[in-house]
Amino acid sequence: MATDCLFCKIVAGDIPAEVVHETETTLAFRDINPQAPTHVIVVPREHHANAAEMGTNAAALAGDVLAAAGAIAAAEGVTDGYRLVFNTGAGAGQTVFHVHCHVLGGRPLTWPPG
Ligand code: 5GP
Ligand code: ZN
Repeated sequence: MATDCLFCKIVAGDIPAEVVHETETTLAFRDINPQAPTHVIVVPREHHANAAEMGTNAAALAGDVLAAAGAIAAAEGVTDGYRLVFNTGAGAGQTVFHVHCHVLGGRPLTWPPG
């Protein structure tokens, strides 16, 4: 566990979260500040700073995160379409440097996102 990492603390159970899905390698919980009716954050239990780092150093784990995201979208019933977002770097809005996939759905999602 990385010290001072918010999502490591949620994975460890030290900070509460509304967990909606879990596997041996991933945990998913509702975003505290939802941007859509469905807004779930999927994290690998293991700490990696961002999606590219996870893809480079733990490719199978990246697959686990994407599979979890798909299962959550199905469970949430966002059959009209949903968006998976990995903000990467402060300039793109990443505020927690433990890789996480935002699963967004339940409202029309415009493109480009702005
Ligand atoms: P980022 O901006 O790094 O892509 O996403 C971080 C997300 O974590 C934000 O959408 C923010 O609302 C969410 N978040 C921040 N702190 C907490 C928390 O303590 N609990 C939960 N469930 N979500 C959080
Ligand atoms: Zn972490």
